[in-house]
This record gives sequence, C-alpha cells and structure tokens, in this order.
Amino acid sequence: MLPADCAGCGTERTQLCPACRQTLADARPGPTLLPWAHAAAPYTDPVRQLLLAHKERGALRLAGPLGEALGRAVRSALGNRAGAAPLLLVPMPSTRAAVRARGHDPTLRLAGAAARSLRRAGLDARAAPLLRHARPVADQTGLNAAERRRNLHGALTVLPRARRGLSGRQPVLVDDLVTTGASLAEAARALADAGLPARAAATVAATAVQPGG
Ligand SMILES: [Zn+2]
Repeated sequence: MLPADCAGCGTERTQLCPACRQTLADARPGPTLLPWAHAAAPYTDPVRQLLLAHKERGALRLAGPLGEALGRAVRSALGNRAGAAPLLLVPMPSTRAAVRARGHDPTLRLAGAAARSLRRAGLDARAAPLLRHARPVADQTGLNAAERRRNLHGALTVLPRARRGLSGRQPVLVDDLVTTGASLAEAARALADAGLPARAAATVAATAVQPGG
C-alpha cells in the first residue's frame, strides 16, 4: 500500500492532514442562494479538493469527515425542527452511467455518513435513495436560472416502492455541492408530488453563500 497524500492540500503520507480536518470541522454552516438549503462550507480549497477526491478519485475514507460536515449542515438547515420528527436524508441521485464510471455513488455514501453522525449526536436519522432520473437532462452549462429550471422540470421522480416504511419522517435533501439550487428545487418538486414535502436541504459545500450567512 502506498501512503496517500492529504486529499485537501497534498501533505505527504496522510489521507486527511490535521489542518484540513480542522478547516472542515471549523466551517460554520449557513444558508445558500436557496434559503432553505444550508451548506457546511464554501466551495474553496481544501474542502473543494476533499470533495473532488471523494467523488472522482474514490477516496472513500473521506466520507466520514465530509459526512459529519453534511450532518452539521442538516442541523443548520432544520434549526429547532431537527428533533421534531425522525429525519430522512434523501441524496440527490447520480445517473447510472456516473455510478458505473466512478465505481460508487458518492452522494449516497455521504448521506449515509451524515445519518450516522446525526445518530451519534442523538437524532433519529436514516438515509434512503428515493430519487432517480426520469429522463436524460441536457448539459446545464451556459443556461441561465430560468432555462435551468425548464431543462430540469420533470427530470427526477420518486421510486415507487422506495418509500415504504418511511412515513412520519421529515425528508431533507442532501448533496455534495449546491451551485444555483436548480437541481435541489427539482428534487423538492419530485418529493412534494410524491407526498413527501422536503422543507430543507443540506450540502457539504456551496459555490455562493448568502451575505452574512
Ligand atoms: Zn491537508
């Protein structure tokens, strides 16, 4: 086994160095451009590098610390509703092609790690992959917000049998990264249409955070 370098900063012989671990732990969660979605940290290095290593390079042990940050974003998004009902973390779905190419589903893995960290904090939380793609979506690059919404409308659907045994839980959408929030909005629409309204979303990172947030 070759010793891996820190995925956040390249420090040798450790997958996550103490400084990067501390940066992640010290990040203060707050609202994103989508006010009901909170992110644990801005999408800047080393958090950006850690997310990329986990997602694209299979650095699976980073799921623990990244999932803890996601768990803090979940609590921030819910505020005093966090303990009101058992939580159901619903990961944004990856396409089958992406899962094949990466060899794993990074968002599902982060959702599971976040649920574990919330349980360690005494909350009833579980993760369930309820969403899937209903149709292919055109590349979002270069589209404005309204065009993104149109491009995404109806793109996601709730798996018909996946929600058994999940009634009474409050759904929270989770993802690794939020940019415009258009994908989270479409996921919220799909859940609401299936009778599972999600009033909060949480991500590890956000490309833009609200001023003061
Ligand atoms: Zn580092």
